[in-house]
Amino acid sequence: MTFFGNRGNLPEVQCALCGQNSRLISEVLKVCGDCFRNNIGSTQAFIRQAHVQSRHGFDLPAEPPCDEGGVECTLCANRCRMKESSLGYCGLRTNQAEKLIHLGGTHDKGKVSWYHDPLPTNCVASWVCPAGSNAGYPDFSYEKGPELGYFNLAVFYEACTFDCLYCQNWQFRERRSSPRYRTAQELANSVDRRTACVCYFGGDPTPQLFHALQASKTALNRNSDRILRICWETNGSMNPGLLQKMLDLSLHSGGCIKFDLKAHNENLNKALCGVSNKQTLKNFRWVAEQMAQRPDPPLLIASTLLVPGYIDAREVRSIAQFIASCDPEIPYSLLAFYPHFYMPDLPTTSLKHAEECQQAAIDAGLKRVHIGNLHLLSNDY
Ligand code: SF4
Ligand code: SF4
Repeated sequence: MTFFGNRGNLPEVQCALCGQNSRLISEVLKVCGDCFRNNIGSTQAFIRQAHVQSRHGFDLPAEPPCDEGGVECTLCANRCRMKESSLGYCGLRTNQAEKLIHLGGTHDKGKVSWYHDPLPTNCVASWVCPAGSNAGYPDFSYEKGPELGYFNLAVFYEACTFDCLYCQNWQFRERRSSPRYRTAQELANSVDRRTACVCYFGGDPTPQLFHALQASKTALNRNSDRILRICWETNGSMNPGLLQKMLDLSLHSGGCIKFDLKAHNENLNKALCGVSNKQTLKNFRWVAEQMAQRPDPPLLIASTLLVPGYIDAREVRSIAQFIASCDPEIPYSLLAFYPHFYMPDLPTTSLKHAEECQQAAIDAGLKRVHIGNLHLLSNDY
């Protein structure tokens, strides 16, 4: 696997299309954010090359397979069509003898780990959810304010339907060769009487939703006499039928669905994350339409990572206009970027960048905008 050296204060990179020099152009993408938005056709080869590189070391397909006559998986927007023995984009499905085979993510075969985290956590929603604020008390929260003395069960699913070049948890891909499988029952057994919420993240819960849904149902049945919230942190690419089941669990338990909206522009999303965001935006709008069923605590929260040079105030304005068109009351968290994985050569998000994005989101009509990860902000650019 090839990683790039950290450039620190080394020279700027020249955009391979428009020729501008900037420290905010990633070596692996070679093209600036504006060119991804404005020159869709000319950028496809650069997008493909970046994701060939980032996937190769893990034996994952560079793109969702679309083999003619192959078996199709419909669990997420990628809709992989796989010929004999080829692998789905998430690495968890294959075709054996013309049958779709699940290599993980079923009730008895989760590629997953978990731990208890004391509340309130640094969850992207803790500023508006029952664990960290007054929201939802008393029906869905043990305390009016932070739920001190209680725990979040953080459930990390080790596969993903996106390929974000800045993935903060990329190490799960290395565990593909030595997986440890856990059943949904084992996961449900880990919910104890001090567990106030369960949060599924990763990777992403999307390719292993059968496992997560089963564990949630078992845990809720066993704890029907007390508060236990079911929450999700996701790229939002799941099949809408599965999203409906996720929503039902969160709606009735006081939990929430946190959508990480990586970009609004589809080509920029493909550049940064390998695949389209069309289904994510459709799914987000659908969940927003359900919010009135339970206004408090908020059922839907959006977040965006402020990737220097790519997710700038122009992009955040566009994301925020989309969120506001769904419902201006949806809480929106802006998160500081830290260089990781195939993007170690960009700086951390600056205070100026974060404040411009916050203002852009407010100008777009959003009422609740928050900057998270404040400790990561720099004065760098
Ligand atoms: S879950 Fe998504 S990425 Fe994985 S095989 Fe199915 S369609 Fe492809
Ligand atoms: S998992 Fe849910 S309830 Fe718990 S801290 Fe996060 S958003 Fe709040």
